[in-house]
Order: sequence, then C-alpha cells, then structure tokens
Amino acid sequence: MEAPLSHGKGAVPQPPILHLGSLFASLKLLERRRRRAASRTAACAAPPVLPTATQPALVARLWHLLDDWLLGPCRRRLGALALSPVARGVALVCAAGALLRWYARRRRQQQPPGATGRRVCVVGGGIAGAGAAWSLRRSGFDVTLYEQKPALGGNAKSHGWQVPLKAGASAGASSSAGGDGVAAPAATTREVRTGLSVLAWPGELFHTYNALLAHLGIETVEHVLRFFVGRRRATGCGDSSGGSSGDGSSGAVECVFAHDRESHTDEAQLAARQPWLAADLARWRRLAAFVRRVNGFFAPAPLRRAAATSGPGGGAAAVAVAVRGKSCYRNSLLNPLNVVPLRALARWGFGVSDRFWGEVFVPVHTSTFLEAHMDDLPAVLAELLEDIVPLAEPGAPPVMRTWAAGNADAVFEALAAGLQGAGGGEGKLRLGCEVEAVRLEECGGGGGGGAVLPSGSAAASTRSRTVAVVEDDEGRTERFDHVVFACGAPAALRALKRFSSDTASSGGWLALPRALAQQCWHWLATATLRNVRYVESRDALFSSGEAHSDSAAALPPQFEGELLQRFCNYVEVQGGDGDGGGALAYENTFIVSSWSPPALAPDVAGQRPMLVSYGCKERLRNTPAALFERNVTGREAHPCLTTTNLALSTAVWPRLQGLHGGALYFAGSSVTPGNGHDLSLLSGLVVAAAVGAPFPFVENEAALSDFHALQGMMGLG
Ligand SMILES: Cc1cc2nc3c(=O)[nH]c(=O)nc-3n(C[C@H](O)[C@H](O)[C@H](O)COP(=O)(O)OP(=O)(O)OC[C@H]3O[C@@H](n4cnc5c(N)ncnc54)[C@H](O)[C@@H]3O)c2cc1C
Repeated sequence: MEAPLSHGKGAVPQPPILHLGSLFASLKLLERRRRRAASRTAACAAPPVLPTATQPALVARLWHLLDDWLLGPCRRRLGALALSPVARGVALVCAAGALLRWYARRRRQQQPPGATGRRVCVVGGGIAGAGAAWSLRRSGFDVTLYEQKPALGGNAKSHGWQVPLKAGASAGASSSAGGDGVAAPAATTREVRTGLSVLAWPGELFHTYNALLAHLGIETVEHVLRFFVGRRRATGCGDSSGGSSGDGSSGAVECVFAHDRESHTDEAQLAARQPWLAADLARWRRLAAFVRRVNGFFAPAPLRRAAATSGPGGGAAAVAVAVRGKSCYRNSLLNPLNVVPLRALARWGFGVSDRFWGEVFVPVHTSTFLEAHMDDLPAVLAELLEDIVPLAEPGAPPVMRTWAAGNADAVFEALAAGLQGAGGGEGKLRLGCEVEAVRLEECGGGGGGGAVLPSGSAAASTRSRTVAVVEDDEGRTERFDHVVFACGAPAALRALKRFSSDTASSGGWLALPRALAQQCWHWLATATLRNVRYVESRDALFSSGEAHSDSAAALPPQFEGELLQRFCNYVEVQGGDGDGGGALAYENTFIVSSWSPPALAPDVAGQRPMLVSYGCKERLRNTPAALFERNVTGREAHPCLTTTNLALSTAVWPRLQGLHGGALYFAGSSVTPGNGHDLSLLSGLVVAAAVGAPFPFVENEAALSDFHALQGMMGLG
C-alpha cells in the first residue's frame, strides 16, 4: 500500500475531495518514476537536450499551489462532508453521470443533420411507440414499428360487446336487404366497442394527448366519473348473500364514500351519519391545500422559461398560463415532499385517520395506481391526485375526457397510417412481430466492421458510426441508425440480454475505450431495467381481471341499480376490523356501461351491463358463460410508483438515453416518473425530438411547457 502523502503540512489527514488528492499523488509518483528512468537513461546514453531537472520542481510547485490554495479552503469548510463515504459516492456518481451525459450529447451532435435516409426502429406499439413513430415519420425519418401483439394499442385495449337492441331500434346496415334481394332478418344485437383498460384521462392535465387528438381530428367528450366505495364487514369474496340491509351489519355492505351522492355532499348529514369521515375530509382538505402551496413554491423554472420563450403567443401572458395551469410535470427535485411519504404526512402532520386511508384513499386510488400498496407514495403527489380524483370535495366528482368513439382504436390507426405497406401489406408496420435482440455494430469509415446498411441510410454515408442490429422472433435482422425501446422494461431487458458490440474488433485497439464504455453502459442499462418494478410484483389485485356482465355477482344488490346508472367504479373494502387495524382486501369493478359514450347510444343504453372486475375471481366463479366476455391481463403493464422507480426515472434513465452516438433510446411507462397516456406519449415525442423530429405541438403553450419539463427530466433537453 502507498504511504499517505506528506507535503509539508505535518500529519494532517488528507480528505480525498473528489479524489483530486490521489490524482496528484499519482502524478507525483509518475513524475518520480520518470525522473528515475531518465537518470538511468542519462547514465548510459547521451545527456538530454532539455534541462529536465527543472520539470519535477515545476510539478511540485504546481501541486503545492493547487493543494494549498484550492483544496485547502475546501477541505477546511467541507472537511466532514468530504470525508463521508456517502458524499464521496454521490460525488462520484454525479461526476460519472455528467461525463456520460456529456459523452452522449457529444456523440448525438455528431449525428448527420436532417432525417433523410435515417432509419429508426421503434419497439412497442403502445402510445409511446406509436407516438414516437408518427412524429419521426412525419419529419422524414424511415421508421419501422415492431409490435409483438396482433394489434397496436398496448394497454389501450378495446373490446366489442354484443348488446341487445332496444325494442324498435334497428342495427342499421345489418337489417337491410341482402345482396340477393331477400330481406335479411332484423338484427337483435349490435357490437358496442369500448375501452377495456385505458378508459379516460384528466383533460385539464393531459395537454399533449389532447393536442394529438385535436391534430388527428379525433373527437373527445367530457364525462363526470363518480366513484363509490362500499365496506363489507364479513370477509370472503364469495359472500354476497347478506348484502341487503345496507346498515353495515355483518355480511352487509355499507356505503363509505361516494362522489356526488347526497349522503356525502350534505355536510350535516355526513357529520351525523359518519362523523369520522366528516372530520377526516376536513383534515384531507387542509393537507391537499398545504401540498399545493409547497409544490407551487418549488415549481421548477423550466415551466416558466419554456412558456416565456416559446411560440408566437409567448410573453408575459403565456408565462402566467403555464405556471398557473395544472401540469403532471410540475415538480422539482428540491421539493422536500418528494421524500416525505404521503401516509406519514397525513397521519402525523394532519391527523388523518388510518380508517380514512384504508377505506377511502386507497380504494379510490386503486383505479389510479392499479394496486393497493400506497404507503410509500411521496406526499408531493397529493396535488396531482386531488386534480385527478378529488376526495376533499365529494360533491365535485372528477371530470375526465374520453374518446367519443369509446375506444382508442382510431388514434392508433391514424398514428400508424403512413407505416402500412401498399394494399394494407406489412410495410414498415410489423404486427405480431417481437424484437428479440439488439446489438451494436460499427460501420463506415473503413473500420471493417462488416455492417452492411441499406443504401441511402445516413449511417452508410458517414465516416464511422454505431448502428443497431435488430433481430425479430423469426430470425430476421435489420440495421438501423436508431432504436427506440417503447416496450416494457422486461422486454427491453430480454432484447438487450444478447447485447454485443463489435466496436472493438472493427476499430482496432483504438476503439477499445469505446467498446469498454459500451459494456459499462450495457451493465448499467440491464441493472436499471432489472430494477423497474411492476405492480404485480407486490400486489396481484390488478394482474388479471374479467370482462363480464354479471352485475348481480359483482355489485351489492342494494346498490346495484344506482351503481349501474351513475357510477364509474365500485370498490369494495373487505376484512380488517373497521378502524384501520388488520389487513384490508379490495375488489374493483369498472362500470363501463354507465358512462362510455357508445354504451349510452339510445338504441343500446341500459341494455347490458359492461363490467371489468379485478380481485373478484371467486365471486365470479359461477358466472354463466353467456355473461362472461374475456380475461384482461395487465402483467408488465404498470410500473409502481416506488421510490426506486422514481429514483431510476429521474437519476439513472437520463444517463442511459441516446448513448452510442444516439443509437439507443428508451420511452414509455418504464422511464417516466408516473404512468399515464400523456406521460408515455410525451416520452415518445421527447425521444423523437432527440433523434431529430421537432415537437409537433409548439403552438400549444401548455403542451410545449410539459414537453420542456419532461425533456429535462429525461436528460434529453
Ligand atoms: C389496466 C390499466 C388501465 C389503465 N388505465 C389508464 C387510463 O385510464 N388512463 C391513462 O392515462 N392511463 C392508463 N393506464 C396507463 C397506461 O399504461 C398508459 O397510459 C400507456 O398506455 C402506456 O403506454 P406505453 O406505450 O408506455 O406502454 P404499453 O401500452 O404497455 O405498450 C408497450 C407495447 O410494447 C409491446 N412490446 C413489448 N415487448 C415487445 C417486443 N419485444 N417487441 C415488440 N413489441 C413489444 C407490447 O405488446 C405493448 O403493445 C392504464 C394501464 C393499465 C395497465
């Protein structure tokens, strides 16, 4: 081991501030060795031309100057901090991250300007991938979109329900005369196609998604979505027998919380019936106002700057709109509420009871988070949650937007329109085609890597560039200038498992540092992908559900009619002892037929309940086949909002984007700090912009401001 350096200051310990101390030590050591070698050479050869004796003295003086003048004061001020291994670790990670970002930016800047001929592969046909592909294609890129399922949409699935027609209603074309002139029998049912998983969005917050739909000419409508939480005293999923009294006695279901229901909006009535709830709602109101104030104080500057400098309508008015307007992206890393658990703040800061948490907050937000584990949600989210599904004011139910057609099929059709081959052939849209492996190759510049790029590809014409080789499940390989992973983290991990790079072999020993950097990147990327956690890993509630029409089994009889008419979600709380103790279990039934626009058409309205139930398997085990539609699985679909996922999305993902000369990017729900259609779409557009496609909605102040904010968060600004 090296002896600690002493440089005229006695035995004072040397705190390694950013390891500069050891750097200088190494320099001195090198210089000493060089001197020794030089003197050996001098003994047996001609004397050197330059008087080298002055050089060590120069180095030593430089070292003393730097050490005393620069590091000395730092050490005195930061002594304790600098010594702490945590601080050293953080400094090291920050320095490495900054270096990686600088390197990534430098390599990205070496990309050939313009889109012509540049080939992009997008993996995943959810909203992130389809959005990125659309944006890149309209900017002139040559895009190929791979989707492993037979249809685009990802989580935005749709389903066609056969609904009996009302007496006297006709099913249009189906009841007209047949081709042979014989009148076809009048149809008695009609297909009603609704969304199945992604159903609606908060219109006030999803600026980019709204802008996209307006641009594509897709009609949307507003709907009031009321939530209903019922409490069943007796445990057991199969127990639906005693649910007729409504008085909260054993086996019965009582209404705990309901939006826009007289018993919950009339304060006097609420205080008389459920005094604990009235008191907790007042406390929750105070908490929400507090979080709003703190978040407002820490609102990040990019929102203001972006609005101030953007678009033809920029200026002071735009600033006010962007800052005051609601946004999913209005967060600052400096906000202390990022690290305060919401539950702790509610309980210890505002006295909100455990009962409110377990019987109101968690059940209502099972639909938001698709899980019931919410203890580690950061308090910073309370503002956003109140904007999406307000609890503080039960009389003001959430107002959401949805597609007038009831499903997102038309959106994906429009996004992929230019990718289809002539006559609906495969073209650049690879449906039912899974990307199995991605690896890198060095091409051009006489490197001899052997990569053959399609003629016209930008990479083929440049000096030396990294290209990505994509292999699909049929063993076909294609080379691209860029790959955008817009699939879940596990799929990206599988594709990168066989990652290899022939950079070193193609560029000789000079390419070794780059090959080393690529391997480091690969190690960090796979470690990150492996650590993205999905809701099913800790809560199986939403990992599989059933689409059905068995309302008698899924809904409590005394509220069935009311629920089917007015509410969008029925969440049942079971187990526990009623005042927050014991484990609670939840069932969640989405009542699609009560509000989805096509289900409200006059010829079918109220004719058939359309329900999607989660956690109700037992209860639905005797459902007749005629009432059962299909299973709905949501595996690897919803990353949970854990501290790890948030830390990955804000601190690690930005360092991994666009490395290898912009060859590999990541978009979609696994890289965004939250999960929603707007976040995924915007992440796709941010990546598309990094590749070279301008943001398509620059004239929309709110969307542009969100874009800049997410760009910063994703490290692609
Ligand atoms: C049950 C449920 C309900 C939801 N409800 C809402 C809602 O109401 N509103 C809302 O805003 N958000 C909702 N979300 C959130 C929703 O997940 C996001 O809004 C968004 O759909 C995520 O889009 P994405 O493109 O990031 O990912 P996904 O939609 O998951 O798309 C990823 C795609 O990649 C494909 N893929 C995976 N691996 C490969 C491979 N190797 N090769 C090729 N393709 C591959 C998958 O098949 C999939 O189509 C819901 C999510 C779930 C699970």
